[in-house]
Amino acid sequence: MLYDNHGRQINYLRLAVTDRCNLRCFYCMPEEGIKYMPKKELLSYEEMERIVRIMAKMGIRKIRITGGEPFLRKGMMDFIQTLHSINGIEQLNVTTNGTMTKALVPDFKKVGIKSVNLSLDSLDQKRFFDITRRNDFSKVMDTFHQLLEYDIPTKINAVVMNGRNIEDIVPMINLTRDYPVSVRFIEEMPFNGTGEQAQVEAWDYPKILDHIKSNFPTIKKIKDPKHSTSFNYKIPGFKGSVGIIAAYSRLFCGSCNRIRLTPQGMLKTCLYDDGVFNIKKIIRNGGTDEHLKTALLEALGNRAKDGFEAEKNRTFGRPVSESMATIGG
Ligand code: SAM
Ligand code: SF4
Repeated sequence: MLYDNHGRQINYLRLAVTDRCNLRCFYCMPEEGIKYMPKKELLSYEEMERIVRIMAKMGIRKIRITGGEPFLRKGMMDFIQTLHSINGIEQLNVTTNGTMTKALVPDFKKVGIKSVNLSLDSLDQKRFFDITRRNDFSKVMDTFHQLLEYDIPTKINAVVMNGRNIEDIVPMINLTRDYPVSVRFIEEMPFNGTGEQAQVEAWDYPKILDHIKSNFPTIKKIKDPKHSTSFNYKIPGFKGSVGIIAAYSRLFCGSCNRIRLTPQGMLKTCLYDDGVFNIKKIIRNGGTDEHLKTALLEALGNRAKDGFEAEKNRTFGRPVSESMATIGG
């Protein structure tokens, strides 16, 4: 088993497989002027598979495929199936914007996808367009219904943004009345590729919860799963549940079991660090599995206590400004 220097078990890898995306969610990417990494700088499938094999031997049990939009990368379903067959990997999940996935959903279980986080910030076509700058609302809804049809456990992720989608909070919770899904409201973070502060008037965990309670006074707290990043609630009689992810307030660091690998091969031991070592460099310089293992253990032996410390330790104190598409969320 893998542990960090604060005694936290590490068993979960978030693998961002591409920095490319077909949407332009304004909280994640600027509308124009995005500089994607040259393709040769992205980890190849073979490189990612090798890294996962090594990590699985060390104690990684769960993988989340994310991006950018994972399904933009050709051959993604085959790659997922390969990862799923690796000894030690017990759970494989995917985060997607759902714009390209309806036709793939029937094969999700076959390739080993256990559950899906579907990003959907609005149930209104116009607001969806204003947020994502693309007209793909109906495609995402088609994916949503297809996931239900094929009985794939689904969570909806919605970033809460003042002046953008507050009116969606109630209708989204009503989805949990009708469907067995978990809807999770995420505090906006400044990972938008512009270096600008996120919201002026932030909707943090207490504010989101107050808003929900005033509309659903019977809402009850339910037990949070181990390592959960969300505080979870349920409205009695509803089929699904509601979660709030205090991602900017960073209330979940104490039980964090995850590391991240960026599309360009940086290992992140915290969402808020700016990469603790370059795995791709080791691999492309002919490093052995043993080299990689040693570097990983060293990184985990120096892991920041929480997201505030990780942010403070960034290179030259550089503030958080990169696009979330280069991290994977
Ligand atoms: N493209 C896929 C998607 O949208 O689901 C996967 C990658 S996306 C970067 C992963 C998650 O990060 C999404 O749920 C998205 O809403 C969230 N995210 C992106 N930028 C964010 C920000 N600035 N603050 C909070 N969450 C963010
Ligand atoms: Fe693309 Fe996901 Fe970022 Fe939206 S949140 S721009 S879908 S990577």
